[in-house]
Amino acid sequence: MKYLIFVAIFICSSIYSKDVLDVIYIDAGHGGRDPGTMNIMVKEKDINLPIALKLGSMIQNAFPNTKIYYSRTKDDFTDPKERAAQANQLKAKLYIAIHANHKKEYETVKNGFEIYILNKDRLNEAVEITLRENTNLVFQQYGNDETDKYIFSSLAQYGYLKYTEYLASSVQINMIDMNTLFSRGVMQAGYWVLLGASMPSILVECGYISDENDVKILTSDQGQTSIANALFEGYKSYKILYEMQ
Ligand SMILES: [Zn+2]
Repeated sequence: MKYLIFVAIFICSSIYSKDVLDVIYIDAGHGGRDPGTMNIMVKEKDINLPIALKLGSMIQNAFPNTKIYYSRTKDDFTDPKERAAQANQLKAKLYIAIHANHKKEYETVKNGFEIYILNKDRLNEAVEITLRENTNLVFQQYGNDETDKYIFSSLAQYGYLKYTEYLASSVQINMIDMNTLFSRGVMQAGYWVLLGASMPSILVECGYISDENDVKILTSDQGQTSIANALFEGYKSYKILYEMQ
């Protein structure tokens, strides 16, 4: 029996080792009637999109055989749940969600970038974050019939934990290296996209719109390029690890 299990694991890992990271899904957070977080001057959705497109074109130029899908390429609205489902249908092997943050009213100073990976053990926090992130959306079309899907998706995520953590660290290192945004660290949460996407996935909050230094980086072409570059460098390291397993 032990021998059979060993053989099964070996066969699975052999199949897996031939995998190439050739399909990815880039999710520019929010869009259309959902502006994301915002202040008088700027809407989050308008920051996420150019960073996502820049990242996609960097990957496409370096790896022309990679199929890159976007949740949106213009100012369109789609439900986050649909985005995760779409990535699953497209059999994407990696999901990168791009967002920007805003401090809460009672917080005095908050700046820098955060990288989120899925955590199923801290559901209360995850729910709070999910509620905040998807204020306009979370109670729409939500029913118990979807629960199983999310449980299975979460389990799948745990199977990829090693990859997700590596990708998050790699992106973090490159973000620190390539721009002046403060690193708030790699955090665990339960965003819809992380819960629903059945593949390694990270969500990057690129900085705080509410911070005067961050917002300059987030809204300038140069700043957006430097963020996309850092994500791209993180992606390249991740691709090497993924394909040598
Ligand atoms: Zn957002």
